[in-house]
Amino acid sequence: MPLPRLFAVLSALVASSVGAQQYPTKPLTMLVPYAAGGPTDTVARVVAQSMSKPLGQTVIVENKPSAGGILAPEQVKNSKPDGYTILIHHIGMATTPALYRQLRFNPLTDFEYIGLINDVPMTLIARANFPANNFKEFLDYIKKNKDKVSYANAGIGAASHLCGMLFMSAIETDILTVPYKGTAPAMNDLLGGQVDFMCDQTTNTTSQIKSGKVKVYGVTSATRVPSLPEIPTLQEQGLKGFEVGIWHALYAPKGTPKPVLDKLVGALQDSVKDEGVRKKFADLGATTYPPDKATPAALKAHLKAEIDKWTPLIKKAGVYAD
Ligand code: ASP
Repeated sequence: MPLPRLFAVLSALVASSVGAQQYPTKPLTMLVPYAAGGPTDTVARVVAQSMSKPLGQTVIVENKPSAGGILAPEQVKNSKPDGYTILIHHIGMATTPALYRQLRFNPLTDFEYIGLINDVPMTLIARANFPANNFKEFLDYIKKNKDKVSYANAGIGAASHLCGMLFMSAIETDILTVPYKGTAPAMNDLLGGQVDFMCDQTTNTTSQIKSGKVKVYGVTSATRVPSLPEIPTLQEQGLKGFEVGIWHALYAPKGTPKPVLDKLVGALQDSVKDEGVRKKFADLGATTYPPDKATPAALKAHLKAEIDKWTPLIKKAGVYAD
């Protein structure tokens, strides 16, 4: 290599490693794939605020809502790998590769992994005046009126889509689906009575359930949720093997320098250790991962296992978004 070129390469390397040591020197942006006020956004805001402390910089939450949540990962993939743009996402990182044939990002090759945040169960809810007061009445009603009822979700690949798809297949009934760019706008329409029911994370439904603004027919976890102990699981009510758990995690663009990634991992670990964060999540029905799961290795293994678990189920269901 000619001497001036070698010099330029070396000084760029030194500059980037000095930059990595001093990181972060300005606010970070955490992209959220769904609308503000929804469950993913709620988790993002708690984590962003608590990570700001150890990082010494504000972590700004920016919503990039799209049906199925596929725009934010693409944008993070194409961002500069300097630690200033990161992604929060949920189980959609594992389900969208099977649902979208034209997906413009690869969860297994386009990102650096930061770590796992929490697990969140879902709830099956309906508008407050829906004519069914328990799960049995709900099933009878939607089977008899399958051409009249409507189901809200956040687009193909969303947690609400996954849950609805599994539910419809479990009860062998197809229902009209209304897609939104997140379950925050879907919840508004459910509260307004424009749509009949949906399956959504407890991080979005707990307060509506507790205040009686929606009807609830069951939780999707294998066991009852400690913060909503009176709500039976769907398994308990006869849907054998029906279990959907939504997990959240943080990602950075591929090529983010190791010292920068280490700082992000450390900040996430501080966040999941924080009693205030754990309590906020527990009150919303979510279980925060321990710090040894808030690591790149744990996230990578979990993501791979979830892709392996969901891909054959989705392929069998024959659902495609494109
Ligand atoms: N709960 C949504 C979903 O179905 C996402 C959201 O609005 O946060 O994935």
